[in-house]
Amino acid sequence: MQHTITRQIVFEGVGLHSGAPSVITLKPAAADEGIIFRRVDIAGAEPVKALYANVVDTRNCTCLADTSGNKISTIEHLMAALSVMKIDNVVAEVTAPEMPIMDGAAATFFEALRQAGTVKQSAPRRYLKILKSVRFADDKGNYVLLEPADKFSVYFEIEFPSKIVGHQVFDAVITPELFAEEIAPCRTFCEKTQIDYLRSIGLIKGGSLDNAVVLDGETILNPTGFKVPKECVNHKVLDALGDMYTAGLPLIGRLTAHKTGHYHNNQLLKALFADKTNYEIIEE
Ligand SMILES: [Zn+2]
Repeated sequence: MQHTITRQIVFEGVGLHSGAPSVITLKPAAADEGIIFRRVDIAGAEPVKALYANVVDTRNCTCLADTSGNKISTIEHLMAALSVMKIDNVVAEVTAPEMPIMDGAAATFFEALRQAGTVKQSAPRRYLKILKSVRFADDKGNYVLLEPADKFSVYFEIEFPSKIVGHQVFDAVITPELFAEEIAPCRTFCEKTQIDYLRSIGLIKGGSLDNAVVLDGETILNPTGFKVPKECVNHKVLDALGDMYTAGLPLIGRLTAHKTGHYHNNQLLKALFADKTNYEIIEE
């Protein structure tokens, strides 16, 4: 059956780029409503479904916009936590154009959702079962691929010149236990040189060593190091889980990703939905 949350949950923080205060209030929603975002700081702002078709920007994060163009950016970490918690219906009211970055990962969201708990609803849960291989590649040959499989699993591969990251591979069926231990704590990562540039153009004002891994050549600048050994690739998995949930339904299939990001994930879903024979919608 479908599930929503048992009660309202509030998250307060700052936006990663703006550094401005941002509050999300998650509220239970009726069966078949889906995951809905709404800007409550703008009078009369329309609710927007967290669907791939409503994604308007994939540079550095996944950003939704309503029909008037009001943006809600960085939805992916919350979306990943909702998908793993098997929450089908929820309303997320946001007070700013950016979601609060919180821990830079999904551990805060996931833990709060787990504590609040979920409630069974009166409609059956539906899944999107992948029937054919669908692939999206960019002009550098980096690609994402969805293939038929009995369970939802992810293979992710990254390769960075620095040895501290190097070649990292994630390959597993996604379970709540694995997500809690290995994926939810994994933060966004970047190079120190990127930070200097992003700051110079007025971005990442809310970024810190608490919510991002910062690499300087072969050194990690965070005093406590990585949270899990493969934190970098696992954060890419976290992003991919959140992005795949913008399909609107949980997937049954295998996702393979090679050095890709939000843009590729969004293009993959567009390719998937472009042909109805690629998938079928099944009930639990
Ligand atoms: Zn991310």
